[in-house]
Amino acid sequence: NRTPVTIIGLGPMGQALAGSFLHQGHPTTVWNRTAGKADDLVAKGAVQAETVTDAVEASRLVIICVLDYDVVHTILDPVSDTLKGRTLVNLTNGSPEGAREMATWSAERGVDYLDGAIMTPTTTIGTPSAVVLYSGSATVYETYQPTLASTGGSATHLGTDPGRAAAYDLALLDLFWTSMSGYIHALTLARTENIKAKDLAPFAKGIVDILPDIMDEFAHQVDSGHYPGDKSNLISAAAGMEHIIQTAQAHGIDTSVLNAAKAVAQRAIDTGHGTDDFSYLTEVFQKPSP
Ligand code: NDP
Repeated sequence: NRTPVTIIGLGPMGQALAGSFLHQGHPTTVWNRTAGKADDLVAKGAVQAETVTDAVEASRLVIICVLDYDVVHTILDPVSDTLKGRTLVNLTNGSPEGAREMATWSAERGVDYLDGAIMTPTTTIGTPSAVVLYSGSATVYETYQPTLASTGGSATHLGTDPGRAAAYDLALLDLFWTSMSGYIHALTLARTENIKAKDLAPFAKGIVDILPDIMDEFAHQVDSGHYPGDKSNLISAAAGMEHIIQTAQAHGIDTSVLNAAKAVAQRAIDTGHGTDDFSYLTEVFQKPSP
């Protein structure tokens, strides 16, 4: 498969993508606002386009991966005539609404559109560890899947709603950032007790190892709307959180993240759900406090 590919955007991710397409033997054209970022890729055989128009003209498949959807519009709005009849794959991170709007924008201009979300870091691109989610046109996905496979790892088409990949992406990043806030807070709390981060980290990974079973159980409870608290419940969870908050306060460190988590659990308890499982919080999140 030597399908020519154009990559627009050469931040860390765009560079990784272009590198993997080159590595798989695709004639690869690149364009970036800051031209110097193409140097390494040009040394590996990429063609650097002078203008966005030249970049789009070089390939029937145009992949864009930039900061956000506003930047996608800034770059592509002026060249929509040239894009007509081509395929645009947008691997920029954004909202489901942004992806749907981009699909409409493309359809109105005769551009075939597929939205995608990259779930793994730049270092995974071109390796078996890469994970990319797509949604939107099944025809575009089927046509270009063999080419897009150059990103490596697994690719999943989540259906024809163009916003679906972005919706998965946001939900998964919601998990990632709230988890990382907890991890960094844990390292901070440990430091106040003279525990080095590197000494806590192996035990922190042990906590992660117990999560998969809990995640499956909570997923089942959320889908079924039943939250039996026979093994552990919200009153017990809130009491545990309170110990952490008090200790953190005694050490004079910030407790805002855990205070927020505890407040949500407390709302469940205050409305009579203290003996339900932690997963009941989905009902509290669903109805924000006034
Ligand atoms: P950034 O998100 O920082 O995007 C940088 C790119 O956007 C560069 O090409 C930059 O051009 C361009 N850009 C920014 N503002 C403008 C502008 N006003 N006009 C024109 N171009 C602009 O870096 P990444 O490459 O890391 O990320 C790209 C996408 O990939 C993002 O949506 C990100 O969420 C996603 N992603 C990234 C991952 C990662 O590990 N890096 C992991 C998974 C997804 P210039 O070089 O000229 O500044």
